[in-house]
Amino acid sequence: MKQEQPFIYQRDRTKATKLTKQEILDDLKAFSEKCRTRSFTTRQYDKWKDRRITSGSITKIYGSWSKAMQEAGLKSTRAWKRDIKDLVETFKRCWVDQKSEPTKQQFEDYLKRTNSPYTIKSYTHYFGSLGRLAQRIEDRQNERISDAQLYERHKPSKVRKPLPLDLRYTILQRDKHRCVICGASPSTDPSVTLEIDHIIPVAKNGSDSPDNLRTLCHACNQGKKDRIE
Ligand SMILES: [Zn+2]
Repeated sequence: MKQEQPFIYQRDRTKATKLTKQEILDDLKAFSEKCRTRSFTTRQYDKWKDRRITSGSITKIYGSWSKAMQEAGLKSTRAWKRDIKDLVETFKRCWVDQKSEPTKQQFEDYLKRTNSPYTIKSYTHYFGSLGRLAQRIEDRQNERISDAQLYERHKPSKVRKPLPLDLRYTILQRDKHRCVICGASPSTDPSVTLEIDHIIPVAKNGSDSPDNLRTLCHACNQGKKDRIE
């Protein structure tokens, strides 16, 4: 009797390669278009419910995520981070070159002279302003901030000026010290607090003009916020 061959336990890996390389690249491009970004991470890609292949399989087929992204004409996130580093280095070189912090005009000239792919806008978009970047470079040198903080995107703060007191009072008078929605008033219910509300929110460029202002009680104002958010 012939001896039976021992069973070989082997997992089927063809599932990962059912797509052609071109189809994989098409999927990466489709995701890029859907998200309107040329740079995304494996984690973001894997959350896409229409994907036909996992990022892990793509990485196996292409050797690395950034290689696959490159083939698709996209940028891997790491490459994008390298660009930010390059932005900073370019500004530092100009600063060293002229031995003093470059003004906007000086830096603009420098970018042109060195045929840099960047513009002042590349900087202000990412860092808020050249002055902010200069501050960070100085802070980094004095070890007041980390590398991560140096390369972080600037987030504009949403500090807004309080309404002038006299304007606030004018609106309260006009609305007879009552919430214009529910009529609540501190004169009849001491637990009511009145607030001046921007009908078109400040965040959406609503103005401080009286016709954009109204008196609301705290509860109604909260209710409005909940609906908007
Ligand atoms: Zn109310």
